[in-house]
Amino acid sequence: MIAHIIPIKRVQKHITFFDYLVPEALTQDIRIGQLVSIPLRNTVIFGIVFSLSKKPEKQEYEVKEIAAIIHSIPLVSRQYLHIIRILSAWYGLAMGTFLLLALLPMQKRKLQSITLKNIPPYKKKEKPFGKLLDHFSYENKKEHGEKLQKLCKKQTLILVPKKSLMPEVFASLTKEQQKYTAFWHSDLTKKEQFSTWLKIRNGEVDNIIGTRSAILLPFFSLKHIVIDYEYDEQHKHWDQTPRFYTKDIALLIQQIYNTPITYSGYSVSLAEFARGTIPQKTKETPTIIDMRSQRSNHNYSVFSTTVEEAITTTEDDVFLFLNRRGYATSYGCRDCGFTFSCTSCNLPFIYHEKSNTLQCHYCKTSASIVFTCPKCASSVVKLKGAGTELVETQVRNSLPEKHNHAIVRIDADVNDTTYTDEKKPRILIGTEKALPFIRWNKTQHIVFIHIDQQLVIPEFSAQTHMWHMIQDVLYRKKPTSSFYIQTMNPEHILFQSLADPIRFYTHENTLRKRFNYPPHTYITRYFYGHQNAQKAKDEAEKVYHILNQTLTKAQKDIILERPYDMHPKYYRGKYWFCIIARMNNTTWKNDLIWLNRYIPRLWRIDPHPISLLSP
Ligand SMILES: [Zn+2]
Ligand SMILES: [Zn+2]
Ligand SMILES: [Zn+2]
Repeated sequence: MIAHIIPIKRVQKHITFFDYLVPEALTQDIRIGQLVSIPLRNTVIFGIVFSLSKKPEKQEYEVKEIAAIIHSIPLVSRQYLHIIRILSAWYGLAMGTFLLLALLPMQKRKLQSITLKNIPPYKKKEKPFGKLLDHFSYENKKEHGEKLQKLCKKQTLILVPKKSLMPEVFASLTKEQQKYTAFWHSDLTKKEQFSTWLKIRNGEVDNIIGTRSAILLPFFSLKHIVIDYEYDEQHKHWDQTPRFYTKDIALLIQQIYNTPITYSGYSVSLAEFARGTIPQKTKETPTIIDMRSQRSNHNYSVFSTTVEEAITTTEDDVFLFLNRRGYATSYGCRDCGFTFSCTSCNLPFIYHEKSNTLQCHYCKTSASIVFTCPKCASSVVKLKGAGTELVETQVRNSLPEKHNHAIVRIDADVNDTTYTDEKKPRILIGTEKALPFIRWNKTQHIVFIHIDQQLVIPEFSAQTHMWHMIQDVLYRKKPTSSFYIQTMNPEHILFQSLADPIRFYTHENTLRKRFNYPPHTYITRYFYGHQNAQKAKDEAEKVYHILNQTLTKAQKDIILERPYDMHPKYYRGKYWFCIIARMNNTTWKNDLIWLNRYIPRLWRIDPHPISLLSP
């Protein structure tokens, strides 16, 4: 008998499994899903039995024997292996590498002593009475908690986008539910990972609250998947391979087990809107401050007079939000907020200093600089957002000499929180990194200082991203605190729709449809970096042509875009180029596997990306 074994080891992506001979003495005991030890070169490693077959008549190469079966009860089920096989094909990883991420840390001595319970037999459940895919919106924390309690049917997985949200989800469960709840996130120690993984594997916990990697845990009797804050981009594992998106994996699990999925949130993702969910009307809207009138009144500070007064008079916390900087430079009018955009991609141009031109990275359209604004005839300039440092200086200048506040700055480079006195009121200046540090119950003023910079980022999701951030603040802020948004462009559809969300969603959805962006298409991006810019470009062109020829021959419903340089172009020592494939929403699951086969080994595979520009 031959066993096809997945080595639990980082291996090259084309390796699926290795063949091993099952020794005569083990043929009665060997099962699919078992953990075994196998000799590999000069060592012995762990592996999982993927499948079994008869010994071929003629063996062309020498096959080694399995060393031992570690547990007689299989560690994982066939269905679990089936899921892993599909995921490794979607995300361009060997199954072994994937298992290394998804299985419990393989500590030899511990493994020998654990007890595995039998895996309940696989049964695809009858279609549930309710909807397979549901959505609920909550208006406040109380409603959020009550609904979560009801949704927790043993066993339930609740996914949250950030670790910092786990305590509040936990707190909303009943005492009884809390008793049988486990947490899963990337900061668990190896020891905690081991015991939690095993408890979940053995079906000993009822509820699991986790961040995105929790979707890879071995669930054998999952009754419900809840994806909370479903609109949040952090449900995507975007920064390293495998670049998976929890919603895609949840839907795959659903296909196999008929597990109901509930999306929930205060805000609603555009994909959910397109599926028929109506965003709720908010009771309250932020105060929009028109910065143009500040400028015409000769106030050139980063703060409007209202905001300056609010900051200098309060005894409580203040949060000043800024976008992350250095993302992309755009060109526009500082007086009316006009920016130049590419008409075929519907995304803002990026200003290129060297050639002094405006360019669309995606379709290569370029335009020369115009010096007067087509809208208001003012002069046009390079738009630069203020950094947290500049804002800090301005805050210090505005505050009276003797003030009570601690000034705290949090962005990609700085995090001052550890040095500050907990009792002092704070002025927190920060990018999105600062959000978990806001003390909502003590915060009197929330100010988005320079929101326009975010709205001209050439990403299809820039507008919705900002929309959800505003909604997040509305959900979290205490009812008596004020929320200001400073903008040069108060006519922008986003601000105009704050009291009428459907207007914003309809507008955005129409554009996404017209320009073929998600959720109306399934995008996968493939990108490649090289120390030499020309070599990176040549490789991208070469791969594009090969893929295109292959596509034409196979007549697949996939649209490939020409390679473009990413932004920043030079990142982590390499120049980056990207190719986008647009797939059909109903066939992407197979098309992705098909197309990935033609992607060279050193390319990055990023299905369902949250950014098209940044490597
Ligand atoms: Zn203008
Ligand atoms: Zn374009
Ligand atoms: Zn560029």
